Amino acid sequence: MEIKRLLFRYTPTNRYSITALVASIFSYRKDIDLIEVRHLNEIFNFEVKGTVVLFSFMSFDFETVEKEVKILKNKGYTLIAGGPHATANPQQTLNIGFDYVFIGDGEENIRKFINGEFPSNRIYDGISKRVDLSNFPPFCPEKNLYMPIEITRGCPFSCGYCQTPRLAGKVVRHRTLEQIIEFSKIGVKNGRKIARFISPNSFGYGSKNGVIPNPEKVDNLLYNLKKVGVEEIYFGTFPSDVRPESINEEILSVIKKYVNNKYIVIGAQSGSDRILKLINRGHDIEQIENALYLLNKFGFIPRVDFIFGFPFETDEDIDKTFEFIKKIVNKYNAKVHAHTFMPLPGTPLANIGAGKLKEKHYKFLGTLTAQGYLDGYWLKQEELARRVASVNSSSPI
Ligand code: SF4
Repeated sequence: MEIKRLLFRYTPTNRYSITALVASIFSYRKDIDLIEVRHLNEIFNFEVKGTVVLFSFMSFDFETVEKEVKILKNKGYTLIAGGPHATANPQQTLNIGFDYVFIGDGEENIRKFINGEFPSNRIYDGISKRVDLSNFPPFCPEKNLYMPIEITRGCPFSCGYCQTPRLAGKVVRHRTLEQIIEFSKIGVKNGRKIARFISPNSFGYGSKNGVIPNPEKVDNLLYNLKKVGVEEIYFGTFPSDVRPESINEEILSVIKKYVNNKYIVIGAQSGSDRILKLINRGHDIEQIENALYLLNKFGFIPRVDFIFGFPFETDEDIDKTFEFIKKIVNKYNAKVHAHTFMPLPGTPLANIGAGKLKEKHYKFLGTLTAQGYLDGYWLKQEELARRVASVNSSSPI
């Protein structure tokens, strides 16, 4: 098959994946058209021969993707898939009609695909063969495609609800400081003077285990970003967050010198030690509180992630979490970012059923929202959780 063009099926959740793949392909080969399509109908403008349509999707988009795949397959298009769902469930993804599936890291394997190297089992393995981030550009300035620089990939933790350790691996891989600076310089030249980052734990940048901060390395990074003309730096905030145990005085003193964000996003997930154990968070309430105390001391507003509606959550767990939230809002000026539990495929908690909120959740979360202390897509996620659970139950694996 001679590939003339790759059509990237854009969704609101896959912009970063598409940008990373376009950057990898474009820096390698310039003879293939790389086109983003926002609507299914746009695809029909391209002849079937030489066209490959690429999907990268989350589990809650599975039903929509399945419908589109049926239509495109009937017309004869070649279809490939990657991203969190395909990685968690490659066989199911092939079964609905995809020709090839990419699991784990995609940057190297997409190059193999366009070169005509096709695996016999139709699954490109980016899990056992991980990439070195610094061998690939973090974005594609030539196509005016930018995104926050992914400074670290991989997470050593195994939180029960999270797909990252499988998608990105458990070994922490940092992009080199030199490459981050080189690309930030290009961004600045093109008017991109605001720096944001992607990482499972931005305070772990440059550290061996990705957990105990390396303040010197982070200082070096932020200092050099300023030196090449970055005007605003957002570090430890969207679209990455920080582990509670990675917050200490040293790292806060460093980032305080450079950053523009008032908020630091920190994952807590529950105010019940029992739940923290069950979801394998690897920290307890005391560590969360210690982190919030330090953030407050350094003048940051903690923006704290919580997950509600675990099927094994008891009334006592819920009450403990609500009490903890009230305490941290009052004592540390914290804001809450609320989620409803989704049983994502490939995670240890995939088969325990959808997250379900109780009357007391709606009341408490609604009140905090009205008071301006809470935000998040927790209501929408309750619906998405049901969709994800039904995809899990229909999976052949
Ligand atoms: S939730 Fe965060 S710390 Fe836990 S496994 Fe996922 S990325 Fe790692």
